Amino acid sequence: LRLNQQNLYRLPARVARPTYDRSRVKVGIVHIGVGGFHRSHQAFYTDELMETTGTTEWGICGVGLRDADRKIGDILKKQDHLYSLIVKHPGGQMETRVIGSLIDFMLSCDDPAAVIARMAHPETKIVSLTITEGGYNFSPATGEFDLKNPDVRHDLANPMLPRTIFGYLTASLQQCRSVGRPPFTVQSCDNIQHNGDMTRRMLLAFAAKQDPELARWIEREVCFPNAMVDRITPVTTPSDIEYLDTECGVKDEWPVTCEPFIQWVIEDHFCGARPAWETVGAQFVPDVTPYEKMKIRLLNAGHSVLGLLGSIHGHATIDGCMADPLFATYLRRFMDFEATPVLDAVEGIDLDDYKDCLIERFGNPNIKDNLARICLESSSKLPKFLIPTITENLTRGGSIEYATLVIAAWCFYSDKGTSRHGAPLDIVDDLKAELNKAAADTPRDPLSFLKLKPVFGDLVRHQTFTTTYTRMVNALYENPDIARQMQTILFGQ
Ligand code: NAD
Repeated sequence: LRLNQQNLYRLPARVARPTYDRSRVKVGIVHIGVGGFHRSHQAFYTDELMETTGTTEWGICGVGLRDADRKIGDILKKQDHLYSLIVKHPGGQMETRVIGSLIDFMLSCDDPAAVIARMAHPETKIVSLTITEGGYNFSPATGEFDLKNPDVRHDLANPMLPRTIFGYLTASLQQCRSVGRPPFTVQSCDNIQHNGDMTRRMLLAFAAKQDPELARWIEREVCFPNAMVDRITPVTTPSDIEYLDTECGVKDEWPVTCEPFIQWVIEDHFCGARPAWETVGAQFVPDVTPYEKMKIRLLNAGHSVLGLLGSIHGHATIDGCMADPLFATYLRRFMDFEATPVLDAVEGIDLDDYKDCLIERFGNPNIKDNLARICLESSSKLPKFLIPTITENLTRGGSIEYATLVIAAWCFYSDKGTSRHGAPLDIVDDLKAELNKAAADTPRDPLSFLKLKPVFGDLVRHQTFTTTYTRMVNALYENPDIARQMQTILFGQ
């Protein structure tokens, strides 16, 4: 059966579906970037909210800013904006549910004025974003807004025919202001630390160039709540589409798959009304910082630990690492002995439960997370995810062995570009050449890798660290059997 509104109540019973009246739902949220993650996360929460409370004010109008979004737009239109979410459990069970919270979709290049009007409409209370890190247009070198970007220059010259998110936000906020209407909240759902602050800083840099008066109004009136988002959502594969068709009898051209875990911690800082997402599991907090820190130091750092050690050992995926008891034990000890002691208490969260849950999520054999993907751009990840754990443990005299072996492994990985068996590794990193050059000097100068100041800061000056690191990196260059070093750290000689 084709997925659409007419067939919704004829679908097989094993497929859950909305029971609320979609024809009564109004657009309260305009969402930019209807990728897999939006559909597994915010649209899922909003669907649950409508299902459990019967609210009709928070329907979502999706917007695609790129021509590449035409495909999802066409499919959603055919399916009356319905799609299936397949939740893949670690034990192999699959749970399928049709999501009804998306009720419209617009492709910006087809009609920019209509998109601006939709964003500035009095019923639009929130404009939310999942536009990937690249969409925020900051320079990796300086962290500042990149005014040289040709699309940004185009938007500054053509305010009513924008291409970028900054052009659209500015034009629609200008419309609100000109008719004396309060602005909407701008809510980032991208995986960026302090994503709201980042959006605000970038938008203000753009708006100040276009209209300094408007920039001052945005600065005063618009809210940009920070949020921590979490739900692993892999790219949809042809076999997911086939599974739905053959096992569930649903023809959906673009379903989404994800893990069962879901988390959304949001700073309660909105300009006007907001959905009561807390009734369906989201958490509203005054400050998202401790939640972000917990996620980065345990989930993201945990990924890097498995990613770098696993790549050298010859594992291919996160679940592959977790099926190896040595790696699973090592990860847990790293989290317990090194990451946790330097975390702050996080209200409402039991860190042991959080770690147990991470171990289960990483081990989910249905979510094949590739180590090459995990390791890409390690030079921007490790300084945020892992190195602060080392420096904070150095200050308090805590354990650093688990994390230091990961740095030694990263040196070997950057120098050789192969696993211990010589199998080539697919390394993607903006600093790939610099990392490789610094690492290649290791046999002559064991500390050469650490001298990359933008990555390691002053770590090379810390003798407790360099002594441990030198021992490990020398051992690795002598014998790249990483498992042996992991065993030594875990169980002694
Ligand atoms: P996706 O590739 O399915 O979708 C990306 C969307 O972003 C598309 O709609 C695309 O048009 C849009 N986009 C990309 N660059 C843009 C730009 N410069 N301007 C405007 N729009 C742009 O990816 P996804 O899995 O949905 O992930 C999107 C983001 O969600 C990630 O970058 C991350 O910040 C966040 N996230 C993803 C996951 C996950 O597991 N997939 C988990 C947590 C957070």
